Amino acid sequence: THFGFREVPESEKATLVGQVFQSVAGKYDLMNDLMSLGIHRLWKRFTIDQARVRPGYQVLDVAGGTGDLGAALAERVGPGGRVVISDINPAMLEVGRNRLADKGIVGNVEFVEADAERLPFPDDSFDVATLAFGIRNMTHPDQALHELYRVLKPGGRVLILEFSHPTWPGVGPVYDLYSFHVLPRLGQWVAGDRDSYQYLVESIRRFPDQETFKGMMETAGFDLVEYFNLSGGIVALHKGIKI
Ligand code: SAM
Repeated sequence: THFGFREVPESEKATLVGQVFQSVAGKYDLMNDLMSLGIHRLWKRFTIDQARVRPGYQVLDVAGGTGDLGAALAERVGPGGRVVISDINPAMLEVGRNRLADKGIVGNVEFVEADAERLPFPDDSFDVATLAFGIRNMTHPDQALHELYRVLKPGGRVLILEFSHPTWPGVGPVYDLYSFHVLPRLGQWVAGDRDSYQYLVESIRRFPDQETFKGMMETAGFDLVEYFNLSGGIVALHKGIKI
């Protein structure tokens, strides 16, 4: 790579990602706040706004982890709707289940252990599907996009929030400094796990840029694909419709 890190072979990737989230699940929410200085909450709020969820909707949050989006979505679908939070990692789902139960969010949420590349749902099941900070860790993101497309109802909308490539001039160098020097140390201090955070930084660098990812969504079948750069392109929200 450009940065002298080891490329992770495909065969090792799924296992490594599993270990990363297994080892950080308990500290995951605290780390999100620290790493992003709380800004991930704004990125997620923007995603929820763009999801335009109405009462009664069936919503799927893929790689839903500890349930940040899931909680907000559950409020919006109301008692007549349903939010399915799916994740490949049972430890993350467990943290999510407890968090939502503590907030009194029960009844219209379900937690499903599932690989995004093979979703255990019938075709045309959901009005909205969301995926935040999960697709870049997947072995075959194109397969995950294909699955998202398959399970959405015609007219359904997908929102994919992910780290992307800074577009504002000047952001790049500061962001590099932050991700290669500050972040792995934060991971070490707070979660006792430098390698996992180093791996996350590398995976962000390798992930396709905004336009490339938009093309991947179109290849998967989505129409009217557009994206919003957030925080100068550090994060992008891609939106698409299944027609
Ligand atoms: N969406 C949550 C959020 O924004 O806070 C969690 C994001 S967390 C960075 C990434 C999540 O993706 C982890 O919970 C991980 O277990 C999950 N994940 C990784 N690969 C996956 C796959 N192939 N299928 C489903 N979930 C996956």
